[in-house]
Amino acid sequence: MTTYPNYGRIDGAIVIIGFGSIGRGTLPLIERHFDYDADKLVVIEPNEDVHTFLHQRKIRHLQEAITRENYREILGGIFKEGRGFCVNLSVDTSSLDIMKYCRELGVLYIDTVVEPWAGFYFETTENAERTNYALRQKVRDEKAANPGGPTAVSCCGANPGMVSWFVKEALLTLAKDTGRDIATPWDRTGWGNLMKDLGVKGVHIAERDTQARRTPRPRGTFVNTWSVEGFISEGFQPAELGWGTHETWFPENGHGHDTGCQAAIWLERPGAITRVHTWCPTPGPQFGFLVTHNEAVSISDYYTVGPAHAPDFRPTCHYAYHPCDDAVLSLHEMFGSGRQQTVHEILEPDEIVEGIDELGVLLYGHEKNALWFGSRLSNAEARKLAPYQNATGLQVTSAVLAGMVWALENPRAGIVETDEMDHARCLEVQRPYLGPVEAHYTDWTPLQDRWALFPEDIDDSDPWLFRNVLAS
Ligand code: NAD
Repeated sequence: MTTYPNYGRIDGAIVIIGFGSIGRGTLPLIERHFDYDADKLVVIEPNEDVHTFLHQRKIRHLQEAITRENYREILGGIFKEGRGFCVNLSVDTSSLDIMKYCRELGVLYIDTVVEPWAGFYFETTENAERTNYALRQKVRDEKAANPGGPTAVSCCGANPGMVSWFVKEALLTLAKDTGRDIATPWDRTGWGNLMKDLGVKGVHIAERDTQARRTPRPRGTFVNTWSVEGFISEGFQPAELGWGTHETWFPENGHGHDTGCQAAIWLERPGAITRVHTWCPTPGPQFGFLVTHNEAVSISDYYTVGPAHAPDFRPTCHYAYHPCDDAVLSLHEMFGSGRQQTVHEILEPDEIVEGIDELGVLLYGHEKNALWFGSRLSNAEARKLAPYQNATGLQVTSAVLAGMVWALENPRAGIVETDEMDHARCLEVQRPYLGPVEAHYTDWTPLQDRWALFPEDIDDSDPWLFRNVLAS
């Protein structure tokens, strides 16, 4: 029988909010790695379909949707002992409000995204307010206003989340491979200076998901490897990126921010139809979508050297996402028709016949040109490692596990993002679930492999300018 590391005891209730693809995959990892009172584990999920699954496992199912009106009453009732762990894996529930309330109660908290209450993504009319910058800044403001106290880990999935730990591991790899004998930095200033000294200009969160099933995607169905609702919501947000100090050009449809960390800009265009040139080990050069993500802002912010409004150094950082082929077709259909599909399907581990989720960070612009560092987990391997999830799911849920372990070991750290956590400890916990974790150097740049027959708006004085990365 396989034995798994035990990471300690969670006292009080454990509440999982949302039992979709990520909630379902997180459950077995909690069961495997923690001690807790089984009768105090509660899943809050409005969908009755999960009831039989939970009932068979003798897990309490509260069939409710958490709302702005009821979250205090419901969570206050469950956490009346004033301790426990709230694991928020739901769409449409405000991460900030729930996190604040959990801290008030003395309960540990974790989520994988700064999620707003239902309605935010499509009913907010100002695009600046629909950005992840705006969502994240409110969490940062809360951290500044109320430092310390019970730990609440913000945005601890694969990305945002694990990729921030990969950036640190990639920097240490690059330092070693360029002959530098350095001590591992221990604070933000140290990490920022290391990135700057290594000459890194920016970071793509470069992902290629090749998971596929045998059945062709039916027309009118949005198919993805994780939350369809979550992907549609973020895909319709404005494209967003951390804006580095090496950039010499500013997009015509771009907007900066006058308040907050000022590390990012946004474009007047949905992220899921904004393409960028990027690179992953399997395909080599590829198009990715510039979908907004919290880590694009947090990484650029974390590695800023100097004042926020006039930094000495800041990396450009953004997501460059090639989702599974069925999701690319789904996006094409959705944006082309102007209508969201009403049928949503998440590829189940048992129906996927091939493919991997290749998710890493591409650090570029330095003396070795570019380094991709990441996980190349196949669905076949994911199925052997843990139940109820595909490769994408396991990259996310194992990051949730790592974040929970870190929170238990650091219970009074206040509100933290994954950039601010001990990346070595977190990866130690997570790595057994990530399949091959590899470093790949490439001599590819965004100026290569373009279509020479057509004119393009590029600047060949520096291949790594965002102007060259953005596809016309
Ligand atoms: P999913 O769509 O499969 O499941 C979401 C679940 O939340 C559904 O079962 C739904 O019924 C439930 N839900 C909806 N409204 C609710 C409410 N008000 N109260 C309680 N439950 C509610 O999504 P998923 O793939 O499991 O993703 C869950 C969350 O994790 C999403 O916010 C998604 O964006 C995020 N996510 C983050 C990462 C990352 O790497 N950081 C990756 C994947 C997903």
